Amino acid sequence: MSKDFKHRNAYHEQHPKPDCHHDDLNRGKKIQYHLQHTLTKSVSCAGIGVHSGKEARISIKPAPENHGIRFRRTDLPMGTPDIPALFKMVVDTSLATVVGNQGVIVSTIEHLMAAFTGLAIDNALVEIDGYEMPIMDGSAGEFAKAIGGAGIRTQKNSRWFFVATRPLDLVDGDKYVRIKPHPKFKISCAIDFDTPVIGSQELTFDLSRESFLNEICRARTFGFVKDLRFLKMFQLGRGGSLDNAVVIDNDKILNPSGLRYPDEFVRHKILDCLGDFALLGMPIIGHIETCKSGHDLNHRFIKTFLETKDAWETRPVAIIPDE
Ligand SMILES: [Zn+2]
Repeated sequence: MSKDFKHRNAYHEQHPKPDCHHDDLNRGKKIQYHLQHTLTKSVSCAGIGVHSGKEARISIKPAPENHGIRFRRTDLPMGTPDIPALFKMVVDTSLATVVGNQGVIVSTIEHLMAAFTGLAIDNALVEIDGYEMPIMDGSAGEFAKAIGGAGIRTQKNSRWFFVATRPLDLVDGDKYVRIKPHPKFKISCAIDFDTPVIGSQELTFDLSRESFLNEICRARTFGFVKDLRFLKMFQLGRGGSLDNAVVIDNDKILNPSGLRYPDEFVRHKILDCLGDFALLGMPIIGHIETCKSGHDLNHRFIKTFLETKDAWETRPVAIIPDE
């Protein structure tokens, strides 16, 4: 039996249906992607940080139109500045995406940011009583479930989009990130790892709330026991475990329950990409293609993209075709 076949069976036996669905997401109803959205009410979740091993509790709160996504540290004195979740606030990407403002930081925001993008949430205040976001199960599934449980409210104001107006790419050896004009938001990711557990995987994803919940949100982060960076995370960090990552040792997956999707790895790459591009502060209309990319190349691309002012325009989009 091939490994792939084995994983497929394991996936269907253990995860017959994604568990991050919730009726409050108004599934099946037409979503007004041209308008801004926030949560209907506050919701909390808690867990340990993958690097610090420290427990943190977050509250995700509704916010008014044009507020954007902001982080607020509640363990620091009143008056500590909020941190807008914007590319210009990124202070480190070496182990996780860290945003900061006047020395105040919040780390490992990428999976929650992916959930906001995937669920089309434009405005929220995220309060946290520590410096590192809980890693939860290594995916965006728990965040999506929490936000879905709170409910999503359509707001009056139009969303503004980054609309790609011409192709732009950033190539680094055999890796690249590219954006092309496209009438909606589409992502294609390709990865190629020299282990039969992963191999070559490619996936194209048209973003909608439904497709994010069904296809992307539960894909977990992954790493190799032989990878020094990953080992560091597990040995020096205190929070890493098989509960919050897919761990690969040589040609074996160490997690007893196997994979959640047969191609969970490329799905997590798409999730990370959604989280990275969320730092533009506005949704995108265009087709992003990445090959063998990661947070570092994604961030270098975003920097180039923002500097290349003839490659995009920002504006409301009245109707997204075939919405
Ligand atoms: Zn990730």
